[in-house]
Amino acid sequence: MTVPEFGRFFLPGPTEVHPDILKAMQRPMIPHRGQQMVDLLKGLEAPLKQLCRTERNVLIGTCAATGFMEMAVRSGVRHRALCLAGGAFGERFAGIVAATGREVVRLEVALGRTVEPDMLRDALRRSDADAVTLVHSETSTGALAPLEELAHVVHEFDDVMLLVDAVTSMGGCPVETDEWDLDFVFTGSQKALALPPGLALGVASERMLENAKNIPERGAYLDVVAFHKAAANYQPTNTPALSQVYALEAQLSRIDAEGGVEARWRRHDEMRRVVEEWVCGPGGELGFTYLPREDRRSWTVSCLRVPEGVNGRQLVHAMKREGWTIGTGYGELRHSTIRIGHMGDHTPAGVRELLGALESVVP
Ligand SMILES: *Cc1c(COP(=O)(O)O)cnc(C)c1O
Repeated sequence: MTVPEFGRFFLPGPTEVHPDILKAMQRPMIPHRGQQMVDLLKGLEAPLKQLCRTERNVLIGTCAATGFMEMAVRSGVRHRALCLAGGAFGERFAGIVAATGREVVRLEVALGRTVEPDMLRDALRRSDADAVTLVHSETSTGALAPLEELAHVVHEFDDVMLLVDAVTSMGGCPVETDEWDLDFVFTGSQKALALPPGLALGVASERMLENAKNIPERGAYLDVVAFHKAAANYQPTNTPALSQVYALEAQLSRIDAEGGVEARWRRHDEMRRVVEEWVCGPGGELGFTYLPREDRRSWTVSCLRVPEGVNGRQLVHAMKREGWTIGTGYGELRHSTIRIGHMGDHTPAGVRELLGALESVVP
């Protein structure tokens, strides 16, 4: 079996990293307090703002995305958060709110479903929360929340921070940070940006920063105020993962070469449509169905129920034997679903080939 250099690894994170990016990481270290570092960060400023659809500073942290989830909570939640959850990452967000000594009010939906605007409005009226945590693209279920509409609802209320996990959406589908007035939005390097794991990116609104200054116990390493101050001076807070920053620089050039973030969104839109068409056709005939309903499906990860009598994990192993990596279902969905991570640098043609392979391994 010959496996090509790129295009067989469809895990919903970490995603496959292009060989050019891996090469870009093999550069020597530089002093992180010197002019070279300043120049490197200055060079990233404009493309990062374009990627994140913002005029604000984009914060770069050396941590898993969960680190910035904790930053969102420590710097964004004063006393009580309304936590939207319909899967593992929404739960994780709520768990961090509880773990940092804040009060959690849960707004839960079934796996594969999303909280809708009216539900959110009702819950906000009743909860007296000072923040909302939500996951835009819930990677464990493949559900995509109607973020723009939800953001409008949150802004009907005074002084409620909107904290958004955009880990599998930013770079893969529209996330309008400034236009939708998101107070804090973050992602990680190893999902739609198709970089090695280890970096987190985030954007904080002016309101978020002002709010944070009134929260004394927001910690040190992940303090949004300190990050913002450093970023404004093109400085890292601490010694950053330099090799990852080199990778980020290379990926931002590749995104520019593709035609910018909008071209990237279009490619992701096509990839999810390839899966939808397949489920409407041969995949559906075999018995595959979507977990989330139409219009609520992530552009970067498709979560499919497997045919009756078929075990999802066995399907994933059978694909592995053919040289393809896809994700198993998450948690209680591990036997009944599979997840295809079509994000980052994958192509519609690659997704078609993958689905062809999937057809051939169904018993
Ligand atoms: C992967 C993922 C995370 C966690 O990312 P880490 O880098 O592992 O901390 C959080 N939220 C979502 C939606 C994810 O897909």
